[in-house]
Amino acid sequence: MKPSTPADEFALIQWIKAQSASSSFRSQSRTSIGIGDDCAALRFSSDREVLVTTDMLLDGRHFLLDDCGPEAAGEKALGANLSDIAAMAGLPIAAVVAVALPRDRATEIAQGLHRGMARLAERFGLALIGGDTNTWEGPLVISITVLGEATAQGPVRRSGAKPGDIVLVTGPLGGSLLGRHLRPEPRIEAAMALAEAVSIHAMIDLSDGLASDLGHILNESGGLGAWLEADSIPIHPDAHTIAAELADGRPAIDHALADGEDFELCLTVAPEDAARLLDQPPKGVKLYPVGGIDEDSGIRLRTAKGEESPLLLRGFNHFV
Ligand code: ADP
Ligand code: MG
Repeated sequence: MKPSTPADEFALIQWIKAQSASSSFRSQSRTSIGIGDDCAALRFSSDREVLVTTDMLLDGRHFLLDDCGPEAAGEKALGANLSDIAAMAGLPIAAVVAVALPRDRATEIAQGLHRGMARLAERFGLALIGGDTNTWEGPLVISITVLGEATAQGPVRRSGAKPGDIVLVTGPLGGSLLGRHLRPEPRIEAAMALAEAVSIHAMIDLSDGLASDLGHILNESGGLGAWLEADSIPIHPDAHTIAAELADGRPAIDHALADGEDFELCLTVAPEDAARLLDQPPKGVKLYPVGGIDEDSGIRLRTAKGEESPLLLRGFNHFV
């Protein structure tokens, strides 16, 4: 039977509630109060820290609704949040979704967003516990807050990198604008398996590009430096495609270092732990060593001949 189209905001919320209730997600048992009351209520283990992250995505800035459609927008918005939970090695538990919907297509867009989010919500056992629904004459705005639970070892922070650490990434980088940026694959399982296997000193998800995001680790870890081995950077085929298509003189490695929205993880671990992980990676986890942490300044790109040059590339910056 074709579901009827909800006629107004309240009918829409009922529709969302029915969709969420029909799925038996892992986290549903944590939810003592879900959609429909003034607040939701969740049960957390008393010995674990609660992780909280919010991302706001704007039509025209983070996606183009007319090109990608509402499902992709919803999937991207939730994926970006889940990637932040992964970056702390956390387990996602629940999501709250606030939307400003263009008035003339409000219901259609809201339902599309919901379908787009459902894939990731089901995959990670995430419960949709609430939100806020507005309509206006402006473009689509979607803001998602995800609550998660840290592992018993606690959240993995950006601030724990140490000189001598090896820098690893979990997948090939660059060219995500060709489509991958709309379909993030948050590395939740990988992060938890890695945190279980070794002591991760520092971790971040690659939303702005390796050059920029590794920079955040260095700053937060007390102003350290890092070298990257040019030949070791895993370059995604999309980065080669985009470099060839743009033909603007920027080689594929530039795209791998600076494009952003790869949603892979970048982590630093002690050299003996890196060796162990690379020898026997946790099941299903891909790892690429790309460089190391030191006490020199900034990030330097090292060639096969051992020559170093400062990395001048910048990642995607939302203020420029
Ligand atoms: P209030 O005015 O008390 O904030 P609302 O009418 O905004 O109540 O929301 C009613 C219920 O529906 C709340 O439980 C809220 O969390 C939920 N809700 C509203 N919009 C959404 C949405 N887009 N997705 C999921 N839940 C929603
Ligand atoms: Mg409300």
